[in-house]
This record gives sequence, structure tokens and C-alpha cells, in this order.
Amino acid sequence: MCGIVGVYCDDDSFTSRIAYYALFSLQHRGQESAGISISGEDFKVYKGMGLVNEVFDDKTLSRLRGNSAIGHVRYSTTGESKLENAQPLFVKSKSGSISVAHNGNLVNYRELRRELESDGRVFLTDSDTEVIAHLLSSYLLKNEIEEALALLTEKLCGSFTLALLLNHMVVGYRDPMGFKPLCVGKLENGYILASESCAIDSVGGELVRDVKPGEAVIIEDGELRFERIAESNQKAICVFEYIYFARPDSIIDGRSVYSVRFDIGRTLAKENPVEVDIISPVPDSGTTSSIGYAYESGIPYIEALIKNRYVGRTFIMPGQRSRELSVQLKMNALKENVRGRKVLLIDDSIVRGTTSRRIVDLVRKAGAKEVHFRVGSPPIISPCYFGIDMSTREELIASSKTVEDIRKAINADSLAYLSLKGLIKSVRIDEEDLCLACLTSDYPVEVPGEICLRCSARA
Ligand code: 5GP
Ligand code: MG
Repeated sequence: MCGIVGVYCDDDSFTSRIAYYALFSLQHRGQESAGISISGEDFKVYKGMGLVNEVFDDKTLSRLRGNSAIGHVRYSTTGESKLENAQPLFVKSKSGSISVAHNGNLVNYRELRRELESDGRVFLTDSDTEVIAHLLSSYLLKNEIEEALALLTEKLCGSFTLALLLNHMVVGYRDPMGFKPLCVGKLENGYILASESCAIDSVGGELVRDVKPGEAVIIEDGELRFERIAESNQKAICVFEYIYFARPDSIIDGRSVYSVRFDIGRTLAKENPVEVDIISPVPDSGTTSSIGYAYESGIPYIEALIKNRYVGRTFIMPGQRSRELSVQLKMNALKENVRGRKVLLIDDSIVRGTTSRRIVDLVRKAGAKEVHFRVGSPPIISPCYFGIDMSTREELIASSKTVEDIRKAINADSLAYLSLKGLIKSVRIDEEDLCLACLTSDYPVEVPGEICLRCSARA
């Protein structure tokens, strides 16, 4: 989970600001660190821990001058949360200055790193992105960017959507499976690449189109071109972007995230009706599907919970031991809306089940007569190796418990999930083009210790 951007702008005093605003609108994709690399008279990298507006101020942005830039917001999956793992990563080699911003996760990171280390390469971070930077810099010694990306693609296994700054050139690349999104926008005086189209909107740009899996977009001397790098016979577009991760005002691979979530809500209502007085989202991730559920069922949408909008990252109060209190700080129940009523709560997903339990209890304590729960995705049963933060099977409540056991664990009067069929119908992308591994345990590429039906079909 990360957000990446690339910018080319004719006005070299404006480039870093465009990158900044674009990153700001991708803040939901990562809150641990933020950074910008820019190429002008010289090559600069500025990054820090924290939110975009904590890392950059006006003075810093004014000093970052140049026509070409890339940027990154990080949510770590491989490598700890610390400054040296912040991106963009920068390496200087015979082929010039190279900066890398990566969204994804490499499955064969350890092997590749060992291989490079035995070649005498020195690593400064424990993030898989450094492997990409090393490989790329050696391929670029003897090859043009297109060929270098093709060689890189042969070497890497996993998900890798990239924004690269190679001297003055801005490059976007999406791996052939297309796990993570990337799209291109036109600015009045330049171009922008971003993980999500909401970033293009936020800087007044116009969405040109999504970068296709296996395709690169190259901006050189102010000119933009698309290049096919690798064949994409097997796509694996991450379904969790639509379920939870992306902003609802983004369009990913031609599908509006809002309309997918709205349809998820409608489908959920058809599949799992329930007699209740009000429908309320678990804010904010359950909002759009709740509106869809209310629309389909005709039951009123009335909020049971209000979220403190300044709670972004999970914060820990000094000396605060009670987890109960931490949910109360984030969320408050509206007693007058729930008292004596049958309430249906809808959330996008249940991962560990701990938050859901506390929220159900909160609504009960506020006087609800019954609290039912519907989930806008099928049960999450398997870990993600491609960049979503669900790392071990043990922490996923649905990996070992039945729906009835989960219902008891979260203390709901009834619980139902969206079916897999219903999800695919709502996303409206062919099932074989999606990565559904967290819901099915069938992985799109070989992962040690996991099942890959596509791999056995290919063999
Ligand atoms: P649980 O009840 O499983 O503890 O929490 C479910 C909540 O976690 C849902 O509201 C869902 O939106 C949220 N969620 C799902 N995936 C992620 C994730 O990767 N990171 C964070 N921070 N929240 C997530
Ligand atoms: Mg949530």
C-alpha cells in the first residue's frame, strides 16, 4: 500500500507543488512517510516521516525546483517504518541519477537481494524497492529504458507499479499483472502520473487514461509516449482497491470506485436482506455501500456513528491503556438515532474483527434494540503478498472461524458477507483479470507455501 506520482511541468517553480498536492490527495494510501525527488539544475530528494503536510512546508517546496519530479507516500509492507526506508529511493551510478517510487511488494525480494549481495552490492535499507533500484541502474548501463524495464520485469516476481525519475526523464510503469493502479493526466502545462485519478483532479488535470498492465509511460523533453514493455496475458488487478483502499472519487481501470461500492451495497441488500429500522455505515469505509444498501432496500440511511475527522492515523494517548477508550475517541454513537431501534451496520470488510466488535458494543451501549452487521466483501481468509497490509493468516478472523463464530465474536444479532459472485458482478471486471487471493486463497503467481491454480494450469 503506497501512493505514487510523477510530474512534468513547463514551469519549474510549480512542479514540486503539483507533486505535493497530488501526494496530499493520495494520503489515504500511506501515512508513514512522504517524499519528492526532483530534477532541475541538480537532482534533489526530500523525504520525511509523517503526513504529507508534516513533511513539506512552503520553504522546502520553493527550494525544490525543476521540471520533472516523482513522489511517494508510504505504508510499509516489506521493511520497517523508518526514515531510511522512506521513498523515493535515490541511487547515483554511471548511468546517472535514478530515483524510484514503488507501489507493491516483491515476492522474490529475499532471493534477489541475496543474489545482489553476493555480487558485492551494498544495501542501505531493508525495503524491496532498493532491489529494483539496483537492478534498474545496472540494466540502464547498457540499455535504453524500454529494454531495461523489460529485463527488470523478467527478474521481478510480485507487484510493482513504479514512478521513476531518470536524470530528467519521468517514467511510469505497471507490471504485466497490473496489481496496483496507475493513470495519466494532462495538465495545462505538463503531465501527471498518479496511483489514482483523484490526484489528477486535485491539481486541475484531466484524466487521459489508465496505464495498462505491462505498459510504460515515458515523459521526455516535455513529450509523452506510451510503450508496451511486456505482454500481459494474465492480469491480476487488486480487488481490495475497489473494496476498501482507493478513494471513492477515483476511477481505476475504467471503473468508478464509488459506483462499484454503491453496487456492492445494492447486491448485499439483495443477497442478505434483514428487517431493521435504520441502516448506518461504519464510517468512513462503509459509507458508499451503506448508501447502496439503503437505496436498494428502501430502509432509511441514518447515521448511528460519527467519526472524529481529525483521527487519521491510529494514535496512542500517553498512559492510555484501554482499547475501549481508543474506539470512543475515534467514534461516538448517536443515542437519539439508535435508541430502541434495530440497527444495521455496514462496513467494507472485517480483517481482524477487533474494531467491529468494539463498534457493535458502542451501538448497543447507546441503546440499540438489535445490532446487525453486513460486510461489503466476502470473508478475508488469506494473507496478501502483493502490498496490502494483511500479513499473516492467524490475524485474519475469517481464516479460522465460520461466519456464525465471527457473528458471536463481534457480538452481532446477525452477520452476513457479500458473496464472491456478487462482488465480481459489482466490480464488473472479468474474474480472470482480478486478484482475489485474499478471498479465495488462489494466488495469481507462485508464492512459496501457497496455491496458484493459474500456475498449475500453465504448467
Ligand atoms: P476489524 O473489525 O477487522 O478489526 O476492522 C475492520 C475495519 O478495518 C474496517 O472498517 C476496514 O475498513 C478496515 N480495514 C480494512 N483493511 C484495512 C487496512 O489494510 N488498514 C487499515 N488501517 N484498516 C483496514
Ligand atoms: Mg473502516
